[in-house]
Amino acid sequence: MVIEVDRNSGFCFGVRNAVEIAEKALLSGEKIYSLGSIVHNDMEVKRLLSLGLVTIDHSQFRKLRDCKVLIRAHGEPPETYKTAKENNITIIEATCPIVKKLQSRIRDKWSKLKDENGQVVIFGKPGHAEVIGLMGQTANEAILISGPDDIAKIDPERPVELYSQTTMELEDYKKVRELIYNKIKEKGKLDPDKDFVAHSTVCGQVSNREPHLRKFAAGHEIIIFVSGKESSNGKMLYSVCKSVNPETYFVSSPEEIDSSWFIGKNTVGICGATSTPKWLLDKIKDYISNI
Ligand code: SF4
Repeated sequence: MVIEVDRNSGFCFGVRNAVEIAEKALLSGEKIYSLGSIVHNDMEVKRLLSLGLVTIDHSQFRKLRDCKVLIRAHGEPPETYKTAKENNITIIEATCPIVKKLQSRIRDKWSKLKDENGQVVIFGKPGHAEVIGLMGQTANEAILISGPDDIAKIDPERPVELYSQTTMELEDYKKVRELIYNKIKEKGKLDPDKDFVAHSTVCGQVSNREPHLRKFAAGHEIIIFVSGKESSNGKMLYSVCKSVNPETYFVSSPEEIDSSWFIGKNTVGICGATSTPKWLLDKIKDYISNI
């Protein structure tokens, strides 16, 4: 049986960067807190916990004093940095550089648009950590839309600048962009080619994976998709694989693998989400080889 691990699967650049920053900081032997899970993968969170990285939530964060806290790849709103300063907390900055740049672009645009009666619109998932960080750049004044139904929140008689959470699906972003354009055009007060600016900020690290995974899933008789159950990117990429290859199985650890899946099969593909560590994909490969 041929078993292939997808070379493009594994951490995206931002998550790899955050984990490397955490590992380096943990070398000092000091306890470090991570504000939220550093990655949506329990196995990796457990591995880092054994090195001293303790995951906390925001209510625990507010009670901390005189310690070190890591900000994960999703980023945080300005409020978090303010609290850290007040409580003598040293921030270990591991926000993905792409998200950091997006935060500063949104902040600059929002300050500028306030004088021009414009609107900053963010296409993202309500409650998602990255979205909370992006909204925070605008004192939560930006308009958050998560789908076509929310377009009604936008005033078509005022200029609009549209941004997207980095992990949204590109096709959904394009749909929303078209709807806003048409709404402004239909109203007829503004010129959508001038007064509507759409910034395509979906991250290529995510959007490029989908077409690649389609090919990968079609090229094997059976697909083992490895991801944490909490990962929204994992759920989305799993359904992409499943739609191409019905013999796709979702697992989070080797123990979830059923040996009967491989009976009569000659080729197995192993792939995962942007939050799946490479070492876990290799471990799954070893496990299947032993079967
Ligand atoms: S998906 Fe892109 S923007 Fe988000 S953390 Fe990964 S590299 Fe950064």
